[in-house]
Amino acid sequence: MEELSFSEAGARLGLDNTPTSIVIQNLILVAAVMERVRELLGNKPIVVHSGYRAPDVNNAVGGVATSAHCFGRACDFVSSAFGTPAEVALAILKSDIEYDQLILEYGWVHVGLAQEGLPSRREALTKRSPRAAYEPGIRA
Ligand SMILES: [Zn+2]
Repeated sequence: MEELSFSEAGARLGLDNTPTSIVIQNLILVAAVMERVRELLGNKPIVVHSGYRAPDVNNAVGGVATSAHCFGRACDFVSSAFGTPAEVALAILKSDIEYDQLILEYGWVHVGLAQEGLPSRREALTKRSPRAAYEPGIRA
């Protein structure tokens, strides 16, 4: 929970990133998915870059307002002990782990869960740079 609610940008800018109780419920779901991811990656260490982002923090990092991070339903992470972000994303793609969006981003992997009551789309995308468009599939 600490890893998923800590925001480096928030801390640097003095912004509060404390999750609300609804967000905490969502982060528990994300934590369960991330446990499955860790198991999939041979229990190698996972470093979380970003989980929950409070609205002010999300604005500060230029995040999309509808981002799953704002609801505590996403995790950006790396596992350099397992491999590159592309290798991590491909492993998740081939697994039966339930996610809504799996995105290979420029330097990390984003796993997002569907909003409550909505089916998981199991959509895989690649985003090569901050301004690049999302490309379908995981493209190393
Ligand atoms: Zn993300």
